[in-house]
Amino acid sequence: MNSKIYLDNNATTKVSESVFNTMLPYLNDTYGNPSSIYSFGSSVKEEIEKSRRNIAKLLNANPSEIIFTSCASESNTTAIMSAVRSNPNKRHIISTSVEHASILETLKYLESIGYSITYIPVDNSGRINVSDIESAIREDTLLITVMMANNEIGNIYPVEEISNLAASHGILFHTDAVQAIGKIKVDVKEINVNTLSFSGHKIHAPKGIGVLYIKEGTPLVPLIFGHQETNRRGGTENAAYIVGLGAAVKDILDDNYTINKTIENLRDYLESEIINRIPNVKIYGDKDNRLSNTSSIAFKGVNPNELMLLLESFNIYVSTGSACNSVLAEPSHVLVACNANLNDYSPIRISLSKYNTKEEIDIFIKRLESVVNILRKKGKN
Ligand code: PLP
Repeated sequence: MNSKIYLDNNATTKVSESVFNTMLPYLNDTYGNPSSIYSFGSSVKEEIEKSRRNIAKLLNANPSEIIFTSCASESNTTAIMSAVRSNPNKRHIISTSVEHASILETLKYLESIGYSITYIPVDNSGRINVSDIESAIREDTLLITVMMANNEIGNIYPVEEISNLAASHGILFHTDAVQAIGKIKVDVKEINVNTLSFSGHKIHAPKGIGVLYIKEGTPLVPLIFGHQETNRRGGTENAAYIVGLGAAVKDILDDNYTINKTIENLRDYLESEIINRIPNVKIYGDKDNRLSNTSSIAFKGVNPNELMLLLESFNIYVSTGSACNSVLAEPSHVLVACNANLNDYSPIRISLSKYNTKEEIDIFIKRLESVVNILRKKGKN
């Protein structure tokens, strides 16, 4: 059996060697509490601040605008609940139908306690029409929350334009930038964003560490109270993971996004080879405005779960949508929002990272071609 071919990097990524090595001392030797005054603790605090500065540099933010959380789900929930709690007289929020569950479930909860939510629809390619957002704005709109890039189809959304619209109406704007960070340049001075979230485990840091950017002057009501993170997020800092995230961000800064062109070429090669070799294929998403690493691709009549399982038997890992949804065996809300013909064309998601090679892609395509043939023949019987 060939070694593992991992093509599900929008679900999570491998911890890089630089991140792993940076973290290790904070898991064994250097375990002081960053809040302690003696140097065994305060030296850890210094490393945490170094990591914060790296993240601030990546976003073109001030270090004081960055707080560490346990994950992007926590960052998203904090941003939304803080917007709600700091605007007690307003009851309306605008979002989209293709957000991640951490946004949608928070909004669902708010609906259950009387808030009104407008979910902006998308077209067949998953695109948003910004004028739909403008039309949805009400006197009592307190927040607009739109993701920067979609985890399933890879679409990149016009958050700069949407954020300016929000600002011109005095409405808070939040963006879930989890899938965008490291893949496209994000400059918080160029977008009118109040809050922005991202996660370590999508950029080769470990699972369980997230970031929330809070623009200076934006009110923040914590989700978890305590004195850490300048009273904005309680809980003893996860020092090892924070320094690991700082190292992952340093790798992005050092590379300056050049790796993404290589990844994009590999993704484009993969799609063109698939189209050349396998008939009746459909690629979802906005082909002109997509993340460089993502391909949502369907094979007419082929059940994506069966396809995924057969590929797994060859040690090849893809997903059938968002990792969080795939356990539910429900159609993906993103594809449903795109009005996709899921009876005929239900996709798998392939998402690449800097660790994927052309050799791996060639093996994958060969296996994919034979597995699709097997499943199509089986479907005819
Ligand atoms: N937002 C998007 C777009 C994601 O893809 C994910 C993870 O899949 C999250 C939020 C949640 O991130 P975390 O796992 O750090 O909570």
